[in-house]
Amino acid sequence: LLMAYDPARRLARLQVSMERAAVNARMVYEILDTVPHQRDKPGAKELTFDGATVELRDVRFRYANGDEILKGVSFVAEGGKTTALVGPSGAGKSTVISLVPRFYDPASGQILIDGQDIADVTKQSLRNGIAYVSQQPYLFEGSIRDNIRYGRPDATDVEIEEAARLAYAHDFILTQPQGYDTPVGENGVTMSGGQRQRLSIARALVRNAPVLLLDEATSALDTESEAAVQKALDEAMRGRTVIVIAHRLSTVVNADKIIVMKDGLVVEEGTHEDLSRRQNGLYARLHNLQGKVPQASVDAEI
Ligand code: ATP
Repeated sequence: LLMAYDPARRLARLQVSMERAAVNARMVYEILDTVPHQRDKPGAKELTFDGATVELRDVRFRYANGDEILKGVSFVAEGGKTTALVGPSGAGKSTVISLVPRFYDPASGQILIDGQDIADVTKQSLRNGIAYVSQQPYLFEGSIRDNIRYGRPDATDVEIEEAARLAYAHDFILTQPQGYDTPVGENGVTMSGGQRQRLSIARALVRNAPVLLLDEATSALDTESEAAVQKALDEAMRGRTVIVIAHRLSTVVNADKIIVMKDGLVVEEGTHEDLSRRQNGLYARLHNLQGKVPQASVDAEI
C-alpha cells in the first residue's frame, strides 16, 4: 500500500515545487514589469517612499482553496535595516515576501509602507520601489547588458556597468566572448550559479529601489563564488530596507531583527543575541541543534 501511495505523493510534491518555481519567475517578471496592466483601486494614489519602513499588521492569507497559511502575522521591517525571516520549511516565509509587491493580497490585515496601505496605492508605484533577488536567478534571452537593464529600462550603459561592478560581476563579464553584449539564456553562454546570482544582483542594484526582498540561496556555490555573491549582496543590502529569507547563519547573526516564523505565525522576534539567550525558545533550540539556520532537516525536531 505504501509503495502504491509513494509515487502519487512524490508527484504531488513535484507539482507544488513546480508551481512555486513558476511563482518565482512570475514574481521576477511582475515586479520588473513597469507597465501597469493590473487594475488599481479607483482613486489609488502613488506610494511615496520616506525611509521605506514596511509593516505587516495581523495579516491572514490562504492560497485559493487551501488552508490558512498566514494566521495573523505582524512585524515591522524598519527602513534601511535588515529583517531576517527564519523558521522551518512551510512556515510561510516566502508567502510573506510575495505579499509585499502585491503578488497576492491578504485575506485580512494590512501591509503598510511608510504608513500607506499598499492596497490603496498604484501597483506600479509600489513595485517601482521594490527589487527582488530570488534563489534561482532568472535570466532572459538577450545580452548580459539587456539582462541587467531589465531592472530599469532607462538605465544608461554607464549605470549598468556601475551596477555590475558593485555586484562583482564586471570582471567576469569582460571575460565573456562579447563582454556585455554576450547573449545569455537558452541559446547563450552557460554561466555558473554564482555568476547568474551576481547578474541578478546587478539587476536589482541598477533598479536602485528602497526595498529589497531577498530569498537567499540554499544550494551551495563553490567557495569563491560564495564569497563574491556575498560581497555583491552586502552591496545590494546597504542602505535599503531588506526583508530576507535567511539561510546563512552570517545573515541572521548580522540582521537588525530576526522574525522567527512557525505554522503561519511569528513566534519570536529580536536580535540574534536576544533570541540566543532564550534557552527554550525555538530560535535557540534550532541554533543549538545544528549550529546554523533552521532548515528542513531539523523540522522533525520542532
Ligand atoms: P520554505 O522555506 O520551504 O520555502 P516557507 O516558510 O517559505 O518554506 P511558504 O513557501 O510560504 O513557506 O509555504 C507555506 C505553505 O504554503 C506551505 O504549506 C506551501 O506548500 C504552501 N504554498 C506555498 N506556495 C503556494 C502556492 N503557490 N499555492 C499553494 N500553496 C502554496
